[in-house]
Amino acid sequence: MNFDLSQEHQMIRKSMREFADKVVAPGAIERDRTKEFPKEIFKQLADMGMMGLPFSEEYGGAGADTVSFAIVTEELSRACASTGITYSAHISLGGAPLNLFGTDEQKHKYLTPISTGESFGAFGLTEPNAGSDAGGTQTRAIEDGDDFIINGSKVYITNASYAKHLAITAITDIKDGKKEISAIIVPTDAEGIKVIDNYEKMGLHASNTTELVLENVRVPKANLLGKRGEGFRQFLVTLDGGRIGIGAMAVGIAQAAFDKALKYSKERKQFGKSLSEFQITQFKLADMAMKIELARTMVHKAAWLKDQGRPFTKEASMCKLYASEIAMQIADQAVQIHGGYGYMKEYEVERYMRDAKLLEIGEGTSEVQRMVIAREIGC
Ligand SMILES: Cc1cc2nc3c(=O)[nH]c(=O)nc-3n(C[C@H](O)[C@H](O)[C@H](O)COP(=O)(O)OP(=O)(O)OC[C@H]3O[C@@H](n4cnc5c(N)ncnc54)[C@H](O)[C@@H]3O)c2cc1C
Repeated sequence: MNFDLSQEHQMIRKSMREFADKVVAPGAIERDRTKEFPKEIFKQLADMGMMGLPFSEEYGGAGADTVSFAIVTEELSRACASTGITYSAHISLGGAPLNLFGTDEQKHKYLTPISTGESFGAFGLTEPNAGSDAGGTQTRAIEDGDDFIINGSKVYITNASYAKHLAITAITDIKDGKKEISAIIVPTDAEGIKVIDNYEKMGLHASNTTELVLENVRVPKANLLGKRGEGFRQFLVTLDGGRIGIGAMAVGIAQAAFDKALKYSKERKQFGKSLSEFQITQFKLADMAMKIELARTMVHKAAWLKDQGRPFTKEASMCKLYASEIAMQIADQAVQIHGGYGYMKEYEVERYMRDAKLLEIGEGTSEVQRMVIAREIGC
């Protein structure tokens, strides 16, 4: 057994840490305020070959592994979680289903522009009446000659304003009252599709979250992704991978909150002593450090299992659940250690708390993760 990162992984960590500190972190407070999407940062990430990191070179990617993806996501999220979620969704929700289930032609046409950064990756599963119960999809795709005509709506879709196309789920048939759900690739400039970007969110302000309205959107049947009727299963497989991204994001936010709390606790003096000299502060920081270590180890284990081609559903859920919950706890404690200053935007820890909350909700809520784990352990 070896817990060391490979030399390649260490190099990725080092270069992404430098990039995140120099390029991503400086504007994070301002982007949180203005809600400006970090397009410039992503141009640079594309130049660095990061936008298609785990995908094959044949489709414009860098051929790296999931552990590398987790490291990049963690480092970006440490500096700015909006940048982190944009990247994580781009790769693990936008690119991954095309990579896993697309034909060679579909990969050349749709995955390559994602890998090169020409298009952002996005994924449309959630609907107004289908969240945790994703099988409750109501969007319909009716056959019409060589085409599907799609009607319905999707909510909370990350990156869609900047995506040239995205895979969505839709009902392609109903047999004996049972829905046949398929995945279909839809160009975002198709006639009849509206991408609305006007949510007022708690956090992740610089990330793009959209509503999609589809009215008689005509796409060729050739845009079916994978087998007909397998859309629901494909999206569940996709979410397994996505949960590693959310886990990595959570570790990044937790690390940022811990770093700020440790630094502040050494600087701030009350009762003639630094906060870090009070045992209660030391114990808080010790708990934070322990939880981050455990969460990161679990994220890497899930990523490693995926890279070995071994089952990783349970571990992906565990890492997502644990890391997102500890990220909330650690962000909360970091605010507490900063006292009144922690409540002020300038100190950043309040942003970590707002950003971290999404991680307990997106890509399957904490309750859903517990349901997945319970199923996996044979309950
Ligand atoms: C910022 C943001 C970005 C997102 N990005 C995307 C995206 O890119 N693509 C996409 O498809 N979706 C996306 N989502 C949607 C996200 O995945 C859903 O919000 C999430 O799955 C929860 O669904 P819901 O909001 O409908 O909540 P609900 O399913 O209505 O859940 C409400 C509450 O009930 C609980 N609950 C539900 N069912 C059960 C049960 N059986 N037992 C116990 N408790 C239960 C839940 O855990 C939760 O606490 C995003 C959401 C947000 C907020």
